[in-house]
Amino acid sequence: DSDLSRLILDRIRDVPDYPQPGVVFKDITPLLSDPEAFAAVTDAFAGLHEVDKVVGIEARGFILAAPAAYKARAGFVPVRKKGKLPSETLDEAYDLEYGSAVIEVHRDAFAPGDRVLIVDDVLATGGTARATVELVRRAGAEVVAVAVLMELSFLKGRERLTGVELHPLVVV
Ligand code: 5GP
Repeated sequence: DSDLSRLILDRIRDVPDYPQPGVVFKDITPLLSDPEAFAAVTDAFAGLHEVDKVVGIEARGFILAAPAAYKARAGFVPVRKKGKLPSETLDEAYDLEYGSAVIEVHRDAFAPGDRVLIVDDVLATGGTARATVELVRRAGAEVVAVAVLMELSFLKGRERLTGVELHPLVVV
């Protein structure tokens, strides 16, 4: 809704030339530090679907996914950069603008057929979200939807998520 959009848009700060020259980074820390905005966003994610698990993508996804999981009385599952999870993992590589990255999830993170909501802060090129969808499916769970605070539509990440329900709280 438009009140929620306003609450979010007014609290995401553009930081030019971060992390590299020419990139304008969407900084969500002003939103996180605002009690009403943080609660409204948490409630919005938690109210999307009935799910068994909420997946957060390292690192800002954790901050949004964990309170949404609590609110929804779902479990929380971290998807992390390679080498950070202690037990047996599944991994998935994906392309970045320069080079590639690998993310992981614990093999036993889900019960068979678990219904899963994936949460992250920003959908940019969609590579991270796509790789996470693949990981969750390979781990035996069902991806019900991907939810993000902000979709950067000019980067066309949505096109890499065909067949997956996508819920951006705001689109720019
Ligand atoms: P993608 O894989 O869609 O290109 O990039 C999305 C991932 O990079 C997300 O995990 C997100 O946290 C991070 N990301 C990319 N651009 C931005 C940005 O402008 N602001 C924030 N907060 N995160 C970004």
